[in-house]
Amino acid sequence: MSPKRLIAANWKMNKGLVESQKFADEIRAFAENSKNINCEIVICPPFTSLDAIHRKIEGTQIKLGAQNVHYDSCGAYTGEISCSMLKSCGCEYVIIGHSERRLLFHETNELVNKKVLKALDEKLFPILCVGETLEEHQDHLTEAIIEEQLKTCLKHVSAEQMGRIVIAYEPVWAIGTGKNATPHQAESVHNFIRKKIRKITNEENDSSIRIIYGGSVKPSNAKELFSSQSINGALVGGASLDEKSFIEIVNSAF
Ligand code: PEP
Repeated sequence: MSPKRLIAANWKMNKGLVESQKFADEIRAFAENSKNINCEIVICPPFTSLDAIHRKIEGTQIKLGAQNVHYDSCGAYTGEISCSMLKSCGCEYVIIGHSERRLLFHETNELVNKKVLKALDEKLFPILCVGETLEEHQDHLTEAIIEEQLKTCLKHVSAEQMGRIVIAYEPVWAIGTGKNATPHQAESVHNFIRKKIRKITNEENDSSIRIIYGGSVKPSNAKELFSSQSINGALVGGASLDEKSFIEIVNSAF
């Protein structure tokens, strides 16, 4: 049986406090008025809105996530944030290794691995992003790149801990470009990822780990993407900034 789909909103560096609260009010009303939401909804706002959103969504089935975290518990790391700080604001999830962090802030697979291990240790659910660039895609290196990302980013993660990880396949060429992977393309990579994960968990038939897709998901393509059973949800950037678009995507997931 496929796991419950997870739809996560990655707002990136968008929305101040007032806008965030307005969005939270709308999504809360949606959750309260829809009895059969058969998927998990996670909102990942900027750090500055975490606490305010948490207060709004508390008691609903909507979960809170952060967009980044540091691998240490505390100390002299100007501008960084720790797992316990995120948890104190009500976070349960954290996006780790997003391609923008890798490309713009030079995060390596090794650094991502440290963050994943720390998040697991602190009982957060990591949403680990993997994916190939356009050049790698054109050079048919997708599987090799993803295999290396999984191997290094998941080093020392136990089979039991794997159950807490969500893998987001995000082809870099599809992020913010309006050009999404086809369900067939995503499906083929998701199957490859699942095969590699099964090696780590040693579970031949384990299908409980969620592999979600990210890259220009919008209301107009969500239904088609979710027609594939191997796509266990979506990480949504641009289209998650608008309440109505995001709710339409959530409605397509079940
Ligand atoms: C993302 O940032 O994770 C993402 C998938 O962005 P977009 O939906 O805008 O392509």
